[in-house]
Amino acid sequence: METNEDMGVGTKCVHSGIKDYEFGPVVPPIYQTSTFKFKDADQGARLFKGEEDGFIYTRMRNPTIEAMEDAVAELEGGAKAIGCASGMAAISLIFFTLLQSGNHVICGTSVYGPTTTFLSQILSKFNVEVTFVDTSNIVEVEKAFKTNTRVIFFETPGNPTLSVSNIRQISEIAHSYNASVVVDNTFMSPILQKPFELGADIVVHSMTKFLNGHADVVAGIVVVKRKEDYPIFRKMSNHIGGVIDPFNAFLVHRGLKTLEIRMKKHCENAQQIAEYLEQHPKVERVWYPFLKSHPQYELSLEQTTGGGGVISFEIKGGIEAGKILMNNVKVWQLAVSLGGVESLIQHPASMTHASMPKELREEAGITDGLVRLSVGIETIDDLIWGLEQGLNKI
Ligand SMILES: *Cc1c(COP(=O)(O)O)cnc(C)c1O
Repeated sequence: METNEDMGVGTKCVHSGIKDYEFGPVVPPIYQTSTFKFKDADQGARLFKGEEDGFIYTRMRNPTIEAMEDAVAELEGGAKAIGCASGMAAISLIFFTLLQSGNHVICGTSVYGPTTTFLSQILSKFNVEVTFVDTSNIVEVEKAFKTNTRVIFFETPGNPTLSVSNIRQISEIAHSYNASVVVDNTFMSPILQKPFELGADIVVHSMTKFLNGHADVVAGIVVVKRKEDYPIFRKMSNHIGGVIDPFNAFLVHRGLKTLEIRMKKHCENAQQIAEYLEQHPKVERVWYPFLKSHPQYELSLEQTTGGGGVISFEIKGGIEAGKILMNNVKVWQLAVSLGGVESLIQHPASMTHASMPKELREEAGITDGLVRLSVGIETIDDLIWGLEQGLNKI
């Protein structure tokens, strides 16, 4: 079924990107092929020249991948998207596409650990300068811009302290410097937050998380707001080659169908758990964007339609108490990653953010007692009971 802009998000989740295929399947077939044969030599030549629309080779374009890309682009309200082999493949694709030697990048302090490492240890080899700033502080953001700033990259809510950055204000400043605004929308998904409507130019996702939602795929995507920005990204993707494969694209596309209902349940469960933890005597502090105690609660209500499925909290007793908790919880599984239907618990300082230098980690609020939860879609009473089994042991 053809979808259009006026349709509701539930309809878009189910139908976006799906075209008519031979034999009339309601689900896109998995075109698990590396290459596509030409009718004759002339057609091959026309396809290569771009005079005819069609498929040549899967690294360049594949119908199963394209169906998923079109669906994510439509959900985000962007023009086009490029499926990547992982979230990091998508993030590095963006920097390789938008930057050249001598450019400056601003990056939020609260971003995914390997993103920080990529900028500070890999891009620095190519004479790209990076400044890390707390993007929830607009004064700091404004101060960080230079005449050679080409990109500002941030996550909102940030990882893992869930600090919220004002996409609209940051975009206005960035555009006055002719810099591109890139938002990592992994934590919110297009169901809860639409960065393009607030001024962003590029949206990136680790589809490993909520978009696929079932913890069985590693994948990423770059979505561009404007059609004219697409060719340079596709060209770079063809040459770096970090593309998603057809089977993973199929799985992600299947995951998208339930994205709206999953996000609703993630938010519902997380809100109750955040409130439960906030009143718990063994908990020092809870970070969740839809708690009134969150420093950017008002901005969260303005910019997003839900708090998401990730909660961080500071356990009293630091790392030792955290270990007891993680080793004794039930229902919750001790694992990194997030955004799947199953609930996970982890310790950022020794796990996801261990590769980040300690000073940067502390600047980003990642203390040794910080615990991160990815709240799944299980029954809420079981999730609270499972946490209690750990908390009672401390
Ligand atoms: C997981 C994650 C990434 C990296 O994605 P991979 O699919 O693991 O490469 C990037 N950004 C955020 C916010 C993430 O949570």
